[in-house]
Amino acid sequence: MSEIRVGIAGAAGRMGRMLVQAVLDQPGLRLASAWERSDSLAIGKDVGELAGVPALGVVISDSPQKGFAAADVIIDFTTIPSTLDHLPLALEMNKPMIIGTTGFDAAARERIAAAASKTPIVLAPNFSVGINLMFQVAAQVAQVLGEAFDIEIIEAHHRHKVDAPSGTAVRLGETVAQALGRSLPEVAVYGRQGHTGARDRQTIGFATVRGGDVVGDHTLLFAGEGERLEITHRASSRLTFARGAARAAQWVVGRAPGLYDMRDILGFR
Ligand code: NAD
Repeated sequence: MSEIRVGIAGAAGRMGRMLVQAVLDQPGLRLASAWERSDSLAIGKDVGELAGVPALGVVISDSPQKGFAAADVIIDFTTIPSTLDHLPLALEMNKPMIIGTTGFDAAARERIAAAASKTPIVLAPNFSVGINLMFQVAAQVAQVLGEAFDIEIIEAHHRHKVDAPSGTAVRLGETVAQALGRSLPEVAVYGRQGHTGARDRQTIGFATVRGGDVVGDHTLLFAGEGERLEITHRASSRLTFARGAARAAQWVVGRAPGLYDMRDILGFR
């Protein structure tokens, strides 16, 4: 099969630059287009130059239309409005998308699901292999420890992150809540202050840390009487997310429409 042409939205961003590198590293993929928001200083530059590799002959444009047209699959790690703006183009041109942007509310997730009924979309709050294994383990541990342990989720990210708690922390919460037959919106506690009263056993607590250059740490804490179990994942390079997204791009081309996530690519379900 000929090489799969990949288009990268937000190619000058922290993840965008890593995605360029990951697509170059992945056999079978070819970087075909890259674009940025219209006021970006990166427009007109070669993507290779931005990503710290030799010039690739692909210039960053300000046109998502051209970016979609030149590619077989789009990888989008940008912002919520930008990703939502890209959905009609994916439908119009019948192109699959890999979406790494985080922080979507329920209405936005519904729009993504509606688009996925017509073109394949892989949506994951975290494209690392380790975190997706953690999701699997989290559900199993929650089922065993059940009602006897208090569940807390602690996450840390760099100072530039704009959403909280992280999409990964929310997914961890949804995973354990579902395993225990609870509804996350009903049991989630996002931070505590002042006279909070004693902890309600059913709740799932979230704590958010922001600072420096932390790529992404997540701890799922099960606290019982006399013992604690902590499951921690630490990402030390954004390249791990980018490699997962490149793998997803290769996997998704030729699939039936549907909303997929990293567990499908890794064969976990
Ligand atoms: P960033 O701000 O460094 O990069 C975002 C890029 O998108 C910027 O270069 C910006 O100019 C560009 N952009 C904004 N609007 C655009 C538009 N309309 N068209 C094209 N480009 C546009 O942010 P980042 O750290 O790279 O993170 C981006 C997103 O990816 C965030 O939502 C973050 O939470 C998420 N993320 C997800 C994973 C994962 O594994 N799913 C991992 C890391 C980050």
